[in-house]
Amino acid sequence: MDHAVVIGASMSGLLAAAALHRLFGRVTVLDRDTLPTVDAHRRGVAQSRHAHGLLAKGREVIDELLPGLSAELVAQGAIRGDLQRDARHIHGGHRLARGDSGLSGLLASRPLLEGQIRRRVSALPGVRVLADRIATGLLAQDGRVTGVRPADGEPIPADLVVDAGGRGSRTPFWLGELGYEPPREERVVIDVRYGTREFRRRPGDLDGDLVVIIAPTPEHPRGGVAERRARRRAPLVPKPGRRPAPLRALEPFPRRAAGDRGRGVRVQPALRPGHDGRRAGGEGPARGGAAAAGVLPPDRQDRGRAVGHHGRR
Ligand SMILES: Cc1cc2nc3c(=O)[nH]c(=O)nc-3n(C[C@H](O)[C@H](O)[C@H](O)COP(=O)(O)OP(=O)(O)OC[C@H]3O[C@@H](n4cnc5c(N)ncnc54)[C@H](O)[C@@H]3O)c2cc1C
Repeated sequence: MDHAVVIGASMSGLLAAAALHRLFGRVTVLDRDTLPTVDAHRRGVAQSRHAHGLLAKGREVIDELLPGLSAELVAQGAIRGDLQRDARHIHGGHRLARGDSGLSGLLASRPLLEGQIRRRVSALPGVRVLADRIATGLLAQDGRVTGVRPADGEPIPADLVVDAGGRGSRTPFWLGELGYEPPREERVVIDVRYGTREFRRRPGDLDGDLVVIIAPTPEHPRGGVAERRARRRAPLVPKPGRRPAPLRALEPFPRRAAGDRGRGVRVQPALRPGHDGRRAGGEGPARGGAAAAGVLPPDRQDRGRAVGHHGRR
């Protein structure tokens, strides 16, 4: 087999390319975004400004496809840890017991994670990652998909096409255009929204924990996460909730944090007033400080805006 084309150069597309390059002489990955040359946010990954973690199995699989990737991320500021032993989980006002899970995850910003994977995949023999290339349809012949139609330029023939276009995938529509029945679709409505703040860290904050997770419950549908980040001047603090959860007001954080669900969490001043998590990422040098987070009460949620959305659009 000679040529595989992957639509989408985000996590699935890049990792698909890492797997396919073992089977195909050439792998071409197309993305409609202008892909950043440094670890920065980009349009197609709106959630990249929020706190981000990589769970153990995902990290393991990525290391299998791209050996040494975890170590490279750690060298660039990601934090490795046991997310059962080194994290504080608070559920329904109770702190969960700690313990060695033997499962090692990573805390790394999404731009760092995706940027390093993109660098590694782009360097694989036979793999090309092309930015600013929009796929607009599929080519087909004799009941087989035979390539991709880009918005500009010549059709791209392929022995295999992988659609890793994420939630905006057009494959069902494209298959319909070719006269095929679109696949049956299942949708799970999650309707969780995130708001994020960055805070300066102080050594010793979070008592050495990597992350504090205050889970939402049916009675308290808003939760919170405070994440420590090495070599970065502040962590990200997302606050998921079931409804738009704007986060301009910071004053309620300490008060709320003093309640049952946030016991033991202190709050530092935000890096700058009104910051809404839209700042570009990358792991910069530390300026010290410590992480803190709280959960906003519903009646204080009305000022500001949510910057993320998990669920149906
Ligand atoms: C708020 C939030 C927080 C999250 N936190 C975490 C976390 O902490 N840890 C974690 O592991 N996961 C997290 N996730 C989930 C994770 O971000 C997604 O699972 C992941 O990004 C999905 O990757 P993907 O490659 O399948 O699709 P996407 O990331 O959606 O990428 C699709 C890509 O395809 C490109 N594309 C689409 N259509 C075309 C086209 N026609 N032509 C060319 N290119 C195209 C887009 O530009 C994009 O780059 C979070 C998600 C959200 C929303």
